[in-house]
Amino acid sequence: MRYHSTRNNKLSMTSMEVIKQGLSPEGGLFVPDRIPKVSREELKGMIPVDYRQRAKKILSLYLTDYSQQQLTNCVESAYAAGQFSSSSIAQVTALEEGLHILELWHGPTCAFKDMALQILPYLMTTAMQSTDDKKEIIILTATSGDTGKAALEGFRDVPGTGILVFYPLDGVSSMQKLQMVTQEGSNVAVAAVNGNFDDAQTGVKRIFQDAQLAEQMEQRGFRFSSANSINWGRLVPQIVYYFSSYLDLVKQNRILLGQAMNIVVPTGNFGNILAAWYAKEMGLPINRLICASNDNKILTDFIHTGVYDKRREFIQTISPSMDILVSSNLERLLYELVGRDDIQLNSFMNQLSENGYYKIEDKALESLQSIMWGGYANVKETMASIRETFHSTGYTMDPHTAVGKCVYDAYRKETGDGTVTLLVSTASPFKFPGDVLQALQSCAANTSGLSKPSNGDHDEIKLLEQLAEAAGIAIPKPLQGLRDKKIRHTSECGREEMKNQVSAFVKKQEME
Ligand SMILES: *Cc1c(COP(=O)(O)O)cnc(C)c1O
Repeated sequence: MRYHSTRNNKLSMTSMEVIKQGLSPEGGLFVPDRIPKVSREELKGMIPVDYRQRAKKILSLYLTDYSQQQLTNCVESAYAAGQFSSSSIAQVTALEEGLHILELWHGPTCAFKDMALQILPYLMTTAMQSTDDKKEIIILTATSGDTGKAALEGFRDVPGTGILVFYPLDGVSSMQKLQMVTQEGSNVAVAAVNGNFDDAQTGVKRIFQDAQLAEQMEQRGFRFSSANSINWGRLVPQIVYYFSSYLDLVKQNRILLGQAMNIVVPTGNFGNILAAWYAKEMGLPINRLICASNDNKILTDFIHTGVYDKRREFIQTISPSMDILVSSNLERLLYELVGRDDIQLNSFMNQLSENGYYKIEDKALESLQSIMWGGYANVKETMASIRETFHSTGYTMDPHTAVGKCVYDAYRKETGDGTVTLLVSTASPFKFPGDVLQALQSCAANTSGLSKPSNGDHDEIKLLEQLAEAAGIAIPKPLQGLRDKKIRHTSECGREEMKNQVSAFVKKQEME
């Protein structure tokens, strides 16, 4: 299997090169030359085996230049017993008649980013070794919350790598900050940037584009890379859990082999739902993909009108990982919708950066609407859904998952479609204890959302305990453990000092 770029069909690269590079030089995203198929017989063969076996099978269809032994090593290391709190790794729980929850937050950081970021470091270092690339990888990431922590956990103590995460001083939740500043590991660093997420991200981009710095690094034996969700090495492990959860439903007699299911995905950068689209194209019986957004409903509008228009206000919500106006991974679906026309794609992307919008043709829009349904939920609806779902089922959802539940309810009401549905749950409710607690305790008239930021680490731990009591569920171990963790990372820097932070970090890595 070879790969090319959404903006250049003529490129031809191996999966190892693609995973090492992340982004194509002309700015496009890497896509496979063809989408492999999984037959009904092969699906059947995967029913009795565990997540790791299923992962190996799906990964081997795309990552054809990795040997079977290499893939086994990557999968066994990433999804080892003890890394995830559920033996099924991606756990399926029944919620209501015909509605099942896919809990993707049993990994070390309690958010779904772990599903891919636990394995990406192994895929990257294997690619480095196999291509005889002796450089040490330095991962630089700007984070608005979950990605930074999951990347730190994934790369910590992985030989041949180092990771430096920048987070905006006033742009992550108290829990997310606490998780990052207590990060352990010999090859990690975390720095707060005096600014917002855009400042941090712009700073990191500038470092990536600094040719002089890159050359210095090269001479000293380092190579910068990114753990961003546009890397194919993050997308392909996400296809696995759609197959695995379907097979688990078959195994539990909740669906017949071959019977179609719907999937609802709370969406931000469009990576998670795109993985579900790939699963459908590969032959997994999927009827509808339901794309759920919060108040930043640019994708809902796109699915309804065919116009992607980012000229709008950015709204802060209680589901911060979905507060996004440019969903990078949409580019891959767009490319398929226009018949893999890279010239057309370049034109869309130029229009987006120059005019702030683009419009797809009716034929592409029809094809999009035949696969996807889009909806959104505001903060008040999200809070109400957390409360009502808890009262009717006893199940506690985090705000991102609750956005998905609201949109699912709206979808059923509008279409009457009773197809068995999988609702993707992207974070543990304990990652957002303040808002979830407020939702559970408030009465219907009093659900403003956006709970006040807590006054520090002690408050955050107290909130965890209060939520455990109110919801009647145990605090996940990784968050429970925060109470006794030392604060290890106190660096703060201005926007102009980020490069100095990088130099200091590389120097420290050289001494190791
Ligand atoms: C990242 C994230 C999302 C959005 O996922 P995308 O792949 O960017 O669409 C949703 N919920 C949570 C909790 C996340 O961390």
